[in-house]
Amino acid sequence: MNTSINASANLLKEKNISPSIQRIRVLDYLQNSKNHPTVDNIYIDLVKEIPTLSKTTVYNILKLFTEKNIARTVRIGNNEARYDGNTSTHGHFKCDKCGNIYDFNVNTEELKFTGLDKFRINEYHIYLNGICEKCNTE
Ligand SMILES: [Zn+2]
Ligand SMILES: [Zn+2]
Repeated sequence: MNTSINASANLLKEKNISPSIQRIRVLDYLQNSKNHPTVDNIYIDLVKEIPTLSKTTVYNILKLFTEKNIARTVRIGNNEARYDGNTSTHGHFKCDKCGNIYDFNVNTEELKFTGLDKFRINEYHIYLNGICEKCNTE
């Protein structure tokens, strides 16, 4: 086992999730992926190594991970759900041209909202779309 696989197994144990090979592989994939993969992306890549894997299993694992707060769902517009191994507060920028989703940092203390005085905020989802740096210079 390499170190990132070990780290994934340990994180699952910390969250009281029994570390099956499939869960470890999905978590490892998510944490090493910068591109916010869909269920399909994860399934297509991992089934090569784990032939017994099914798409339903991948979906159920991701559902468990989001409940246990080791992954987040990312939805922009009507797009299918994508998954993010980065659970810290950050924003997402979707490029209208290449479809990539980029992470960016958000300083939530500098955000100003009005009309929510008596509300409690649990999560921030900050989504922007436009043309990314790469597509903009092409
Ligand atoms: Zn782009
Ligand atoms: Zn992200």
